Amino acid sequence: MTKQLHKTCTCENYSDLELSRDVISKRIKESKKIKKHLEIKSKSNKGHHLYQCKFCNQLWQLSSAWNWGEKDYLFKIPKTEIKEWNKNPFVSPADMTMFAASMNLYFERHKLVASENFCRRDNCERKAILKDVLCKNHFIESLQNIGTLPKYPEGKIFDPYTF
Ligand SMILES: [Zn+2]
Ligand SMILES: [Zn+2]
Repeated sequence: MTKQLHKTCTCENYSDLELSRDVISKRIKESKKIKKHLEIKSKSNKGHHLYQCKFCNQLWQLSSAWNWGEKDYLFKIPKTEIKEWNKNPFVSPADMTMFAASMNLYFERHKLVASENFCRRDNCERKAILKDVLCKNHFIESLQNIGTLPKYPEGKIFDPYTF
């Protein structure tokens, strides 16, 4: 008869991360403790680590928070095949936090309002924004190309995170 494993991990105590600087800072501090129950499963060539809890099998990703002095932190990720993960690790919530902060700052200063005209890009059916020939999406893309706005962070988007 197999004895049932007593659940001794603390995975359940940690929620998905809100995209805020404070929440990321807090998680950086907590990560050493979280890691105690985890086993390393893989490392990506960009320096992300895949961990799994020995008790509840929850998957975690360890990434570097560049804007927090490159400190490492852990966050929960959905079930995934290791092979899949190696090809495309999940996006880092710290990167998303920084991305969202830059975007918000820009849009506080520049309100993009739709006009009556259509976007000039081929096959785009959205309305152009006022004082421009492009729709909001293509306008943002053009600013990303010239570096005025940051590029979307690398990695696979997953619930509950969105842009
Ligand atoms: Zn666990
Ligand atoms: Zn467009």
